This record gives sequence, C-alpha cells and structure tokens, in this order.
Amino acid sequence: MMRILTRAVYYPMADRAGQRRIGREKATIRAMVRIYCHGHHGTRGTEVCADCAEFLEYAYRRLDRCRWIPEKPTCGHCPVHCYGREMRARAVEVMRYAGPRMAWRHPLMALWHMVDGFRKVENQRARKRP
Ligand SMILES: [Zn+2]
Repeated sequence: MMRILTRAVYYPMADRAGQRRIGREKATIRAMVRIYCHGHHGTRGTEVCADCAEFLEYAYRRLDRCRWIPEKPTCGHCPVHCYGREMRARAVEVMRYAGPRMAWRHPLMALWHMVDGFRKVENQRARKRP
C-alpha cells in the first residue's frame, strides 16, 4: 500500500520537477546560443543561424536523454560529459563568450543557473540511462 502511494505521489512530482529543470536548462542554453550567435554570426539576437540551431538541437537532445533529472547539476558541473568531442568544443566556445554576458542580459536566469550549479547527484554509478 505504501509503495503504491509513494509511486503515485512521488513519481509525478519528480517528473514535474524534472520537466521544470529541463525547461530551465533549455531556456538557459537557448539564451546563451542567441548571445553567441548575435556576437559571432551577426544574427539579431532573437534567432540563430543554421549552425547554431544545429548545436542547440543537439544540446536539447542531450538534455532530453540526461540521466540526472531532476537533481541535475548544470552541464558544466556534471560528472558525465555526454557531448561528443566536436559539440563539446562548440559548447565551451559558446559558454566562454555568453557566460559573462548572461548576468547582464538575463540576470534572473543567470542566478538560477548558479543555484542549479550547486546541485549534487547521488549514487552516480548506480544510475543508468533510461
Ligand atoms: Zn550562429
């Protein structure tokens, strides 16, 4: 009985927290890619070029498959580096440029990102990718 109750209550909650967490992470990476694209590829800051869109899609896919949801740290603090080598190099470039600019452009989002950076994942080795 307790088990059924725990399942019924906990999983939807964890799922919602996970969705929020993913949503936040996607919004952050989208904002960063827009800043980067605007600075490097001359786009207007509200859209991105084809190259950056490809990178963003990749980042979204990685997030959708992330095994640490919902207690996920930010990707920069993650114990697992799930990006391929090329995409990882692009991520580093985007973050290096957009990171310092985020506090100015999206202070609230930057703050959340910092808070999320302190999250810890437990039982790292026990967790399996779904
Ligand atoms: Zn671009």
